[in-house]
Amino acid sequence: FIQGLERLRNEPAESLDGFRVRLLTNTGLLADATPGLERGAEGVGLYRSEIPFMVHQSFPTEEEQLRIYQKVLAAYVPHPVSMRTLDIGGDKQLPYFEMSEQNPYLGWRGIRFTLDNTQLLVTQIRAMLRADIGNGNLQVLVPMVSRVDEVSSFRGHMEKAVADLRKEGHPVRMPQIGMMIEVPSAMLLLPKLAPWVDFVSIGSNDLTQYLLAVDRNNPRVSALFDHLHPAVLHALMNIQQQCQTLNLPVSVCGEMASDPVAVLVLMALGYNSISLSAYNIPRIKLLIRSVERQALLPLLEQAQACSHEEEIRALFQPLVEQAL
Ligand code: PEP
Ligand code: MG
Repeated sequence: FIQGLERLRNEPAESLDGFRVRLLTNTGLLADATPGLERGAEGVGLYRSEIPFMVHQSFPTEEEQLRIYQKVLAAYVPHPVSMRTLDIGGDKQLPYFEMSEQNPYLGWRGIRFTLDNTQLLVTQIRAMLRADIGNGNLQVLVPMVSRVDEVSSFRGHMEKAVADLRKEGHPVRMPQIGMMIEVPSAMLLLPKLAPWVDFVSIGSNDLTQYLLAVDRNNPRVSALFDHLHPAVLHALMNIQQQCQTLNLPVSVCGEMASDPVAVLVLMALGYNSISLSAYNIPRIKLLIRSVERQALLPLLEQAQACSHEEEIRALFQPLVEQAL
């Protein structure tokens, strides 16, 4: 099936009426770099840096991280690579760092953890900045932002790291800084957060989890976890509108970007950049190329009036079946 789609590799992900979607890939393993490129990814929308940390025996040094990041950036030149700083906590644990909390999803996660361990954060951003030398395609993404001081402090650390490295003789560049929107407070505070960032990326997995108060990995409540829940749809609409007003580039990098129905909803909402696993790129591209965005708009209007995710899904499902 995937092989039959190889011919699409160099074709744009563009609807029949010319709505162009940028297809980026999610990765974290070096082994993923090639499949992403082979399937036509236009860059990396989410590099999960915790993955190389998870396969190490202890926190990797600046030099060890440098070597890994260089390979990822070099593989994708000239396409952009959004490297997310360490996002541990919640379901993501390191074998060499004990973290035991009653409520890990509401605890020491992502940027909260790294701002409390600035040595780790600074080591990581130094490695990223150095890896960018000669490549020039690094973007840095901050996970689990819930407060303005998190992004302002983060920017402070970046500026200091850039200045320090230049003093040490490394010709580093200040990269674009983005933040994940995966906590409802980040969505509600967007106008105050926007001055500190160059772009945003929606983590639909955590955003769904925190909007609905449904553990993303708990099988008992998995029937309640749906990125097409009407409240999530409302949030996605709100974020898209705010980003347009704020002139802030936005991309979606959670699992919903691999769900064909959700992709049609995102297109209708006006999202023109998504990031997904390399494996799913060809069929999502085929889907995008098979539809007219204009035809999605009345469906979106109906979806906004729905009370349940099943109704929203049913509206778009026939188009998916026609295309795939
Ligand atoms: C998300 O939360 O949607 C996301 C992309 O980040 P992760 O899945 O790594 O938490
Ligand atoms: Mg997340």
